[in-house]
Amino acid sequence: MAARTSRPAAWTRFRHGEFECTVVSDGILEMGPARDNFPEADPAEIDALLERHYLPADKVRLHQNLLIVDTGRQLVLFDTGVGRSPDLGRGFFGPQTGQAVASMRAAGFEPADIDVVAITHAHPDHCWGLVDEKDQPLYPNARIVVSDTDFVHWTDLSRVDTAPNQHMKDHYVGANRNLLAYGDRVVRVGDGYEVAPGITATATPGHSPGHLVYRIESGGQTMVCWGDLCHHYVILLQHPEWRFQFDYDGPAATAQRKRIYDLVESERHAVFAYHFPFPGLGHLKRDGDGYAWLPTDLELDLPQTRKDTSA
Ligand SMILES: [Zn+2]
Repeated sequence: MAARTSRPAAWTRFRHGEFECTVVSDGILEMGPARDNFPEADPAEIDALLERHYLPADKVRLHQNLLIVDTGRQLVLFDTGVGRSPDLGRGFFGPQTGQAVASMRAAGFEPADIDVVAITHAHPDHCWGLVDEKDQPLYPNARIVVSDTDFVHWTDLSRVDTAPNQHMKDHYVGANRNLLAYGDRVVRVGDGYEVAPGITATATPGHSPGHLVYRIESGGQTMVCWGDLCHHYVILLQHPEWRFQFDYDGPAATAQRKRIYDLVESERHAVFAYHFPFPGLGHLKRDGDGYAWLPTDLELDLPQTRKDTSA
């Protein structure tokens, strides 16, 4: 019998049309006070907003939900978490992070099974998990899909000297280390690139110069895997104009949020959100001047309906 201290598993599974989708967690980023993360918000107003939603204003938590889509022909992994590097990655973000491979194995996958890694943007929590502790490729059989714009920007080590602080310097060093490890297996793409049948990249520059979201279509259903288009399911859905501290171009990031929010709401598309509460699957509904998050009701593996047990 499982110990009563057990928590829910760090992976789950759902169907999207003909595709089987698995979500594995890389762990949680503890970001500190909301007012530091969203510096353009009125401090009293953002604290009150969180309190109304039963959330602590001094402890913003960002999940890291990695999506694995089995198209029937290929396994496509979207983003990789912070990795386990002792100086970058988990060494920086703490022991709650860098859990991607352990979660993946718990869900029945090995890194060698992955055919494609599709990166939304080349920030630490999305591409630093491409290599292992020794900077060797963790996904030996995968090609790596990344926006050409982000590749050029974030692997450019000439930007290290002028970066404003050590953390920003590390952004360039980490992206360079992780992406260049894959040599010619990196595929540099732009708007409209087809990752696999049914999976297409859409350019959404703002949070990062080459940020991509991925449209995943199967059996008449559409889901938008939106990376860091939106970091927080209350703050940036209610206030898309409240810039996140790491937005590269604040006004552009806000414009892309409004554009994609309107698209998924009006077309009734599902959303897969990297940083939302696990597993990050849901829909948007208009709510006042912003939007509300409606998590999707997932099927459970109920013990007395399993074919493989005598329970
Ligand atoms: Zn992120």
